Amino acid sequence: MTANPLPQIDHDRCTGCHLCVDLCPTSALGQVDGKAVLLYPELCTYCTACEDACPEDAIALPFLIVLAKPPARKPLDRKPSEEKP
Ligand code: SF4
Ligand code: SF4
Repeated sequence: MTANPLPQIDHDRCTGCHLCVDLCPTSALGQVDGKAVLLYPELCTYCTACEDACPEDAIALPFLIVLAKPPARKPLDRKPSEEKP
């Protein structure tokens, strides 16, 4: 997966109804040979409108989960029970 995931369109499911193409607020989607295609990925804002609207569940928007590093503990964060004798 790339650093910027993009909507994935399953062409086996897509019936070419054109709904996602009509709904896409940035005109990132188009249709080629009767199937929806992300023609302009650079325009996609990842709004999820296409995924929500597709009646065939043909569009999936993968998300990257980035785990943050826990903040370093400062000495003052120590509980009294953790104090050295
Ligand atoms: S809404 Fe779904 S079925 Fe219709 S064109 Fe888009 S991807 Fe294909
Ligand atoms: S996620 Fe939004 S901007 Fe991106 S292709 Fe789908 S409808 Fe268009």
